[in-house]
Parts: sequence; structure tokens; C-alpha cells
Amino acid sequence: MPAQRLMPDDDAQDLIDLTRAICAERLAPRVDAAEAAHEFPKDTFALLGRSGLLSLPYPEEHGGMGQPYEVYLQVVEEIASVWMSVAVGVSVHSLTMFPLDRFGTDEQKRTLLEPMLGGDQLGAYCLSELRAGSDVASMTTRATPSADGSSWRIKGSKAWISHAGHADYYTTFARTSDDGGRGISCFIVPADADGLVFAEPERKMGLHCDTVSQIHFEDVEVSGDRLVGAVGQGLPIALAALDSGRLGIAAAATGLAQGALDLAVSYAKDRVQFGRPIADNQGLAFLLADMEAAVMSARATYLHAARLKDAGRPVGRAASVAKLIATDAAMRVTTDAVQVLGGAGYTTDFPAERYMREAKVTQIFEGTNQIQRLVISRDLLKETS
Ligand SMILES: Cc1cc2nc3c(=O)[nH]c(=O)nc-3n(C[C@H](O)[C@H](O)[C@H](O)COP(=O)(O)OP(=O)(O)OC[C@H]3O[C@@H](n4cnc5c(N)ncnc54)[C@H](O)[C@@H]3O)c2cc1C
Repeated sequence: MPAQRLMPDDDAQDLIDLTRAICAERLAPRVDAAEAAHEFPKDTFALLGRSGLLSLPYPEEHGGMGQPYEVYLQVVEEIASVWMSVAVGVSVHSLTMFPLDRFGTDEQKRTLLEPMLGGDQLGAYCLSELRAGSDVASMTTRATPSADGSSWRIKGSKAWISHAGHADYYTTFARTSDDGGRGISCFIVPADADGLVFAEPERKMGLHCDTVSQIHFEDVEVSGDRLVGAVGQGLPIALAALDSGRLGIAAAATGLAQGALDLAVSYAKDRVQFGRPIADNQGLAFLLADMEAAVMSARATYLHAARLKDAGRPVGRAASVAKLIATDAAMRVTTDAVQVLGGAGYTTDFPAERYMREAKVTQIFEGTNQIQRLVISRDLLKETS
């Protein structure tokens, strides 16, 4: 059953209707085979880009759709209820454009951001390293300026990069001095840059259509105009981007949980044991009720954070709460969906087991849920001390 939504206006409702139509006609028929084949759905991203769904929360003056976050996130949720890898990809792509939109010069917005917002280009976000995961400020990938200051040479390796080898550009964070968190800068690296080497994709538990691998930067040269923001401003840029990105993951996790709930409800109404549908047992019906409560709570927390963001209010703590609540809800709801389907839930004949595998990573990426608790508690204690 489609989630009940109160959209702010008719245009926003049209976007939801468009998303549902694309999901039903173009995504749903492909998802099972594509996930089984570990196929990167570049053509699906192109389709979403042409439909305007890759640039929803960015300003119209640069080619975006100018939609509030409240609307963008509900589109992500709708996509996730059908194809989680694609929803995560939309969220990652949106993250890659944040630095240019917020910190880029007018010239960079015209030359770099506009083609990205046009929907033809897909981005990747290169922050994590093998030895710098939760502690990103300990990164060692280094960018060194040329003698005349006109370019930078990037050397080092990034890890766990979604869309690696398929993206058209790489939003990359690298160390420009040894001054800890103040010594990191942000660059936009084109996919065809010499020295960009992609490792074999990681063999993951789920999200098989989201190709993830290490990327080695072997003296990759980028021109000076691809530095975003000031030298040394990279970490604040990355963290601000993640505040928005975490909301994308919260919305995707909510959609995944909604998909699992819908499957569980329909199975419970059809499956007969002891002469009646299993849904007629209160023990099982109450499990479904708890799943519905978890999905609705997840949606409410991310929408609250989105509305704060749309109103220009600080959103860091609320975004971390939304990511924590929605991804924990997704883990619980997808696990319970497998239970509702019994043995069938443990087979690949139904997508319940895939939903459960996909939910796990939402508690890990874009800051683990332990790190979300760190962000929330630090902000809370700062306010009350
Ligand atoms: C499928 C996938 C896609 C990804 N895509 C991207 C991407 O596109 N771009 C990108 O840059 N990164 C990406 N990542 C990386 C992801 O963001 C990191 O995996 C994540 O931040 C955790 O880092 P880590 O794996 O090194 O874990 P670690 O930091 O080593 O953490 C291990 C454990 O220790 C806990 N821990 C660590 N520090 C603390 C602390 N201070 N207090 C309490 N507990 C703590 C963690 O919560 C976790 O449980 C992706 C990861 C995956 C799995």
C-alpha cells in the first residue's frame, strides 16, 4: 500500500505521482534480476536525471528543481520502497553536489554544478579511507599544490566508495596540511583524470547494485579551479554535507521498511495455517502493528528534521536522530518481515531476506549509529551545560 503523505502543494504531489509511476513501470520489473546480477543501473540514474529526480533539493537558477528537503526525501523514500540500491545512489549523488552548491564560486556553479544538476552526470563521494572511517579527520590522502599554485596533485587511497568506476566525477577530500581537521580540503576530480585507479568491487552482504570499491589516486592532477571552498575548509564542508546526507539515508531506510511491511501484510493475509489466514492471529497482527508504528515513527523523525532544514534552522542533531531512529527501525522491521513469511522469508523467492541484508548497512554508512549517538549527546550536553 502506498504510504499516506501530506505534500506541501500540488507540484510536490505531482512529483510523488511521477516517482511512483517510474518505480512501478521501470524499477520494479528490474530490481530482482539486477540485484542478483550485481549490475550497476547507470541507465536508471540517467532516467531519474532526465526526469529531474536527481537534482530535487538544488536551486532552479543552476538547473535544480528547487524543491524543499521535505519533498526530496519523500521521493527518496518512494524509490527505496522499490529499489534500495537506487535510492541510496540518489542520496549519495545529492551529497556529492552539496559542496559546490554551498561553498562553490559563481564560476564553479556555472561550469561544474550546472551539468551535474542537469541529470547527465552521476557523482561519487570520496571521504572514507581504510584507516580513517569514523575518524575521518585522520585521513592521509594528500593534495600538494604545484609550484605555481595553478594545480594540485592528489596521492593516496579512498575506501568504500559507492559508484566507484561508474561515476562521472568524484567529490574528494584530501589533506593539504598536517593541521588535523583544519588541514583537509575538498576537490572535484573528473572521472577521466589520469592516475585514478579503481580496485575490484567489495563483495558485500547486500545493496549489490551499489558498486563499492577502493579508489587509488596515483598522483592525480586537478586544476586549481577544482578546489571547493577555502584551503583547509574540507572537514566542515564534509560534515555539513553529511548532515544532509544522513537525512537521505533516513528516508531511504524508511522506504525500505515500508516495502518490507507491505510485503509482510500481504503475505499474512494470504497465508493460511490452522484453517485461517495467519494475520487472524493476534500474536502476528500485533507484530505487524509494531512494524507500522516503527515505519511511521521513522518517517515522522526525518520529516521533522527536513522541515527544520527547510526553515533554515540548525539540523545536525535532528538529522542524527532521524538517521538513528529510521535505520534501527529498518533493521527491526525487515527482520520481522522475514519472521512473518516464515521459511519463505528465508528464501530468495521473496525479497524479505534482501530487505534485511540491505537494512544492515544503513546502520553503518554515513556515520555508524554509535557515531550518531556521539553527535546527539555532544550537542545535547553543549546545550544544557
Ligand atoms: C556499502 C558501503 C557504502 C559506503 N559508501 C561510502 C561512500 O560512498 N563514501 C565514503 O566516503 N564512505 C562510504 N562508506 C564508508 C562508511 O561511511 C564507513 O564504513 C563508516 O563511516 C564506518 O567506518 P568504518 O567502516 O571504518 O568503521 P570504524 O570506524 O572502524 O568503526 C568500527 C566500529 O567501531 C565503532 N566506533 C568507532 N568509533 C567509535 C566511537 N568513538 N565511539 C563508539 N563507537 C565507535 C563504530 O560505530 C563501529 O561499530 C561506505 C560503507 C559501506 C559499507
